[in-house]
Amino acid sequence: LVSRKKKPEDTIVNINGIKVGDGKQQFVMGPCAVESYDQVYQVAEQVKKHGIGLIRGGAFKPRTSPYDFQGLGFEGLEILRNAADAFDLKVISEIMTPSDVEKALDYVDVIQVGARNMQNFDLLKEVGKTNKPVLLKRGLAATIEEFIYAAEYIMSKGNDQIILCERGIRTYEKATRNTLDITSVPILKKETHLPVAVDVVHSTGRRDLLLPAAKAALAIGADLVMAEVHPDPAVALSDSAQQMNFEQFDSFMKAINPCVNVF
Ligand code: PEP
Ligand code: MN
Repeated sequence: LVSRKKKPEDTIVNINGIKVGDGKQQFVMGPCAVESYDQVYQVAEQVKKHGIGLIRGGAFKPRTSPYDFQGLGFEGLEILRNAADAFDLKVISEIMTPSDVEKALDYVDVIQVGARNMQNFDLLKEVGKTNKPVLLKRGLAATIEEFIYAAEYIMSKGNDQIILCERGIRTYEKATRNTLDITSVPILKKETHLPVAVDVVHSTGRRDLLLPAAKAALAIGADLVMAEVHPDPAVALSDSAQQMNFEQFDSFMKAINPCVNVF
């Protein structure tokens, strides 16, 4: 169903009026994790200021260590929703558990399926039964074929509103957190009719690489670029090494805006 051979024309994902995949390249920005109302409100204000319509923020955090901050759960989703509504932003947030999907529909505009859950088939089927847009992340060590099959799981249940998100894969290279597989973008756009996003933050794991990776993503045809912004990354409860503060966010947007829709 996701194959370009079955449907030659591009699928446009409509996030309550914000269209991803219609040719206009967009951004989704926000904190790694929802920590407090004040934190998200401050970030939302900056996101709005830059003319971006989509905000992200994790309420359910899939952490490597069980002793790390696990997220605020539904309380976090409520905070994110309220802060986003104050600036008329659409919300993208990860859901990890199939039984949480229905309740989450009241809070999010896009359900994110995280890299670690790309092959959580029960979760894929559950989000496939909804009519919410889904941002599906590539698994930590998933091939492009496995990634496409994961999208097929969702679409086979009736939901065609899927954005594929390249977020780096595990290789032997240690200079970056993961290896950004930049050519997966044109491959996915050739093989499927779905819009493709690039997450420059979890792929690189490095603040100094956010801008060059974002430029590469836009140049190669990504429909959406994801990065993270925090009022004070040094005290962030997760991903403190690569979130941007507001000044860095300003410089990032100033440098990246001329690269939008150039090719
Ligand atoms: C995230 O986007 O918050 C996240 C945890 O990313 P990933 O699933 O790609 O690691
Ligand atoms: Mn993060």
